[in-house]
Amino acid sequence: MKISAAVLREKGQPFLQEELDLDEPRPDEILVRIAAAGICHTDVTVRNNPLVLPVVLGHEGAGIVEKVGNGVTKVQPGDPVVLSYVYCGRCANCRQGRPAYCSQSAMATFGGVRADGTTTLSRNGEKIFGNFFGQSSFATHALTYENNVVKVRPDAPLALLGPLGCGIQTGAGAVINSLQVKAGASIAVFGLGAVGLSAVMAAKICGCFPIIGVDIRPHRLELARDLGATHVLDAAQENPTAEIKKITGDGADYALECAGNPKVLRQALESVRRPGVCGLVGGAPLGTEATFDMNSIMFGRTVRGILEGDSVPDIFIPQLVDFVMQGRLPLEKLVTFYDFDRINQAVEDSGEGRTIKPILRMPA
Ligand SMILES: [Zn+2]
Ligand SMILES: [Zn+2]
Repeated sequence: MKISAAVLREKGQPFLQEELDLDEPRPDEILVRIAAAGICHTDVTVRNNPLVLPVVLGHEGAGIVEKVGNGVTKVQPGDPVVLSYVYCGRCANCRQGRPAYCSQSAMATFGGVRADGTTTLSRNGEKIFGNFFGQSSFATHALTYENNVVKVRPDAPLALLGPLGCGIQTGAGAVINSLQVKAGASIAVFGLGAVGLSAVMAAKICGCFPIIGVDIRPHRLELARDLGATHVLDAAQENPTAEIKKITGDGADYALECAGNPKVLRQALESVRRPGVCGLVGGAPLGTEATFDMNSIMFGRTVRGILEGDSVPDIFIPQLVDFVMQGRLPLEKLVTFYDFDRINQAVEDSGEGRTIKPILRMPA
């Protein structure tokens, strides 16, 4: 079928709107008409360092199932769905209920092709890579799989929900699933983009106190306060580690690094009490090294990496949708909608910090 998609043809260049051919769904595939797709940091990172070209990115899609392959039983045409990350379901980590750490997912996520090496997309016979996170949702339609499609309640505002599939579950899941914070625990969140602000909202849901937001942009600090931060610190003006010790007495029970910056990781680690836990959520370029005094973890502190907030999408995304419907995860405060053909403006605005979570609305 013919679809419209945003195609990346050259490393770091703007996306081009093109008409492409999308295959009919194979037995294990699900065709989704995309209603809206969030732009996540990883889309921009891959745009600047693509593994394959030309390629269609996008991995925070939400839409309506249009057609299913004859092996698909999980969803049917007409179902509203949120798309998430792909995993194999068969490796040891998947079988242990930790699909975010699937040992087989890298190729399925970034390789641009199906397992048999074919592409789902083409243009007049030219091969176009897709399958990004098993979706490539910067398009009017996407082919997806049972394991990355999550049916959601029909009364939820579908166009708002795509980011639950990556950025929002990453931040909220880090707090709820990975750190499993207790009510009354103190937490400091470093880096208040969509992921960090989702962590702040989740910390409020969990009853943390204090909830300390750290960033260098005043309007993000203000938004963090609005979303549940009890204290905010401008790291450009003050030393966050010292201030967090003052606020908490001894350091925070938990800290989250959501900036992907080695200096911030060190600050976050040094802000937790002994023995507290510092979660690393922010993605840094490959090869980035961080340093700390070995003694700073000697006394029981933990540093742990977290992917996708340890979310099991089938379980966690419906839970997040319920939080949205209850007004406890007010996503709309983070979101700016753009028409699909303004994707390059949306990427630029988020890069400049003018928007926090851009969502592309597909033409009806
Ligand atoms: Zn796996
Ligand atoms: Zn993402």
